[in-house]
Amino acid sequence: MKTIRLKPGKEKSLLRRHPWVFDGAIAKGGGDAGETVRVESHDGAFLAWGAYSPQSRIRVRVWSFDQAQRIDATFLASLVQRAVALRAGWNLPSDGIRLVHGESDGLPGLVVDRYGDTLVAQFTSCGTERWKAVLADALLEATGLQRLYERSDASARALEGLPEVTGWLRGGGDTALVIHEHGWRLGLDVAHGHKTGYYLDQRDSRRDCADWVRRLGLREVLNCFSYTGGFTVAALAGGAEHVTSVDSSGPALAQARANVELNGHDVARCTFLDADVNASLRAFLAEGRQFDAIVLDPPKLAPTVAHAERAARAYKDINRLGLKLLRPGGLLFTYSCSGGIGVELFQKIVAGAALDAGVDAAIVQRQGGAPDHPVALNFPEGEYLKGLVLVRRH
Ligand code: SAH
Repeated sequence: MKTIRLKPGKEKSLLRRHPWVFDGAIAKGGGDAGETVRVESHDGAFLAWGAYSPQSRIRVRVWSFDQAQRIDATFLASLVQRAVALRAGWNLPSDGIRLVHGESDGLPGLVVDRYGDTLVAQFTSCGTERWKAVLADALLEATGLQRLYERSDASARALEGLPEVTGWLRGGGDTALVIHEHGWRLGLDVAHGHKTGYYLDQRDSRRDCADWVRRLGLREVLNCFSYTGGFTVAALAGGAEHVTSVDSSGPALAQARANVELNGHDVARCTFLDADVNASLRAFLAEGRQFDAIVLDPPKLAPTVAHAERAARAYKDINRLGLKLLRPGGLLFTYSCSGGIGVELFQKIVAGAALDAGVDAAIVQRQGGAPDHPVALNFPEGEYLKGLVLVRRH
């Protein structure tokens, strides 16, 4: 068994059960890619068992803080089983469910989503890469399913020195699927969609959007960064008269249109714009357009704190434009999925945007990731998604 000896004082985060060891914390020791290593303090006290990543700044990801725990197939299968079992009794309003949420489920570097009868997994660390076959078998066993598609094409793979891999890992067949969320039918493609195919984390926000649109009788909705039209379908389900969906991905918009039809809504109630959101918002403003509700759900603009300042300007800009385009009494649904921007900072950015827009707005609801995306208390980094629902007062 190889040992990683930490520098003095560098054991603190592990003692708080944070699952990462950064390269700068290590005094000596190493291992092969994905190999299980023993992590110890500067004076040789056991701290954790973890998987070694020779090229990553996150050099070790912890499997267990229990010295007596053997890191083997049985143990990893039990972690998978635990994650799946945790969600089994929750009656989530969808058959699209995140079953394994990485560090927050004790499985750093593994994300697994279930779409109906299909599992989709992302292996983004050397540790999960090394145990891929074991994890794949455990996932089929825990769920009773037979199809598992691999989407190991996340950018995090490069930081680990791992190549991109996609394709069926177990079973096979069509990668185009339909899930049922809040009673809506949503088509997606696990091979060609973003991430594992869909943004399951925004499930509850989409339901809230439908509810607000219905309760307030909101008529004209603008869905920015629409992807495959989750919020578009939500707004239509809530009774919106017209929904404009803007995204820079043609295939995503084609899927959005298909999803509108799949739910029996008239596509004449929709406009799909293959365009840059920023440019579209400016164009709407120049045309004097106004909307009763606007959704702003941009991609991750600040992956880490280092990107926060530039990202803050980008968030402020779209929120300023969005608030200006709202009719008084209208709602802004605004999101950030940037880990580098906390909820307080996000609120500050939106407050600055309102000030610049000359708009009086108030928060009427706070949102976050759906419950199948839990945030482990020892891993606050897991809290990446935050949302604010604002009403424009004048
Ligand atoms: N709200 C969606 C998820 C949005 S993901 C849902 O509920 O499923 C972010 C989307 O922004 C992606 O579809 C991506 O194609 C799009 N995007 C990224 N940059 C963009 C830009 N500058 N203009 C328009 N769309 C953009």
